[in-house]
Amino acid sequence: MVSRNKCMTLLPAGYLFPEVSKRRRTVEEEYPGADIISLGIGNTTEPLTRHITESLTRASAGLGTPAGYSGYGDEQGMSGLRAKIADRVYNGSVAPDEVFVSDGAKCDIGRLQLMFGRSQTIAVQDPSYPVYVDGSVIAGATGTYDIQRQQYRGVTYLRCSPENGFFPELKDAEKTDIIYFSSPNNPTGAAATRQELKGLVEYAKRNKSIIVYDAAYSEYIVEKGLPKSIYEIDGAKDVAIEVSSFSKFIGFTGVRLGWTVIPSKLKYDDGSQVIRDWNRVTTTVFNGASNIAQQGGLAALDDEGLTELRGTVSYYLGNAKIILKGLKAMGVESYGGVNAPYIWARFPGRRSWDIFDEILRKAYVVTTPGSGFGPAGEGFLRFSAFGHRKDVEEAVERLKKIKL
Ligand code: PLP
Repeated sequence: MVSRNKCMTLLPAGYLFPEVSKRRRTVEEEYPGADIISLGIGNTTEPLTRHITESLTRASAGLGTPAGYSGYGDEQGMSGLRAKIADRVYNGSVAPDEVFVSDGAKCDIGRLQLMFGRSQTIAVQDPSYPVYVDGSVIAGATGTYDIQRQQYRGVTYLRCSPENGFFPELKDAEKTDIIYFSSPNNPTGAAATRQELKGLVEYAKRNKSIIVYDAAYSEYIVEKGLPKSIYEIDGAKDVAIEVSSFSKFIGFTGVRLGWTVIPSKLKYDDGSQVIRDWNRVTTTVFNGASNIAQQGGLAALDDEGLTELRGTVSYYLGNAKIILKGLKAMGVESYGGVNAPYIWARFPGRRSWDIFDEILRKAYVVTTPGSGFGPAGEGFLRFSAFGHRKDVEEAVERLKKIKL
C-alpha cells in the first residue's frame, strides 16, 4: 500500500465552494422547483465580446490549415503576447521577458508554491483567497492545523477588518518569507492605497520577504489614484512577484489565460535570480497556455478589446452597486463593491454558515460564508456581483423581504 502524503491530511475536510454547492443541492432536493439565484461563487456570467470571439474563432479555424497550425509553443508564452502585456498592462515598466503567460492565476500560485517549497514561512491577508493557504498546505509549508483557533500554526494571518480599513498590521509578519497580498482583495473588495502599498514594499525590503501580489481584479479599480499594479510603487521590483489573469477582466474563467511577472532584479538570499527558478519550473511542469486562448488575449489588449473589456467590467460593477445599495438600505454593514466585484457584509453576533443557511433557505439566494476565507471572516458573508442583472435585482428584492 502507498502511504498518503501527510500534507493532504492537514487540509480541511472540504474546499469552501464544494460545501456551498452541497448545501445548495440539499435545498434544491428539499424544495424541488425552487428558483435559486447564486451570488456565491465568483464565476463570470456574461458572454465574451464580439472582438474576442472573432479572434478565438480565427485562431481555431487557422489550426485546421497547414499555414495556421501550430503545436507546442514556448512555455513562457507567445512573444507577441508577453510584449503586449508588458506594454498595455504595465506601460513598459516591466520587460516582456519578465512576463510569463499561463493558464491562469490560480495555477501560477500553485506553481509558485511548488517553487518556494516547504521551508518558507508564509503570511496571508485574513480573510483572503483560500488558495494561498491551502496550496501552501499541500506544499508542506504551513505546519499543523490548530482547530481551536482555526489557523495553521506556521501561517501568519494578517487581520484585515473594517477597524483597520482592511489593511493589516505588517509587523505581525515579522518572520515571514512570503507574503500573499491581493488588491482588490477577494473577499473584502478592499483596494489598497498607494501609501499602504508603499508601506508593504518598504516592509518587505526591511524584512527581506517576497510579496506575491495577486492583481486578478485590478481592472475593477475605478477610483482615481489607487494603484492597479504593485510595480507602480518604487522599489517593488526588488521584492514583488505579480500574478494576474484574463478571467475577471474579459470573462476567460473557462478559456483559461493569465500571467505572472517575475522581475529580473528579484533575488534569493544567495544572490540567485528568482526568475531563473521560475523559468525552470515553467519549462518543467507546464507546457504553455493554449494557443487559441493566447490569440484571445492579444485581441483583449488591443484598442477594441480594451474598450469592450471596460464595458464588461462596468456591467459587473453596476451589479455590485445594486447589491451594495440594497444591503445598506436594509441596514446591513457592508464594504467593498466599489473597486471590486465583491461586497463584504457583516452580521454581528452571527456565524457565517448560519446566516448563509438562513438566506439560502428563506430567500433562495446563495452567498459565500466569510469564515471560508480565514478566521477573520467569521460573522461575514461575501456577495458576488458576477451574475445577470435581472437575477441580481431579483436577489436583492428577495433579501429585502426576509429582513436581514
Ligand atoms: N486570484 C484571486 C484573488 C481570485 O479570486 C481568483 C478567482 O476567483 C483567482 C486568482 C483565479 O484566477 P484564474 O481564473 O486566472 O485562475
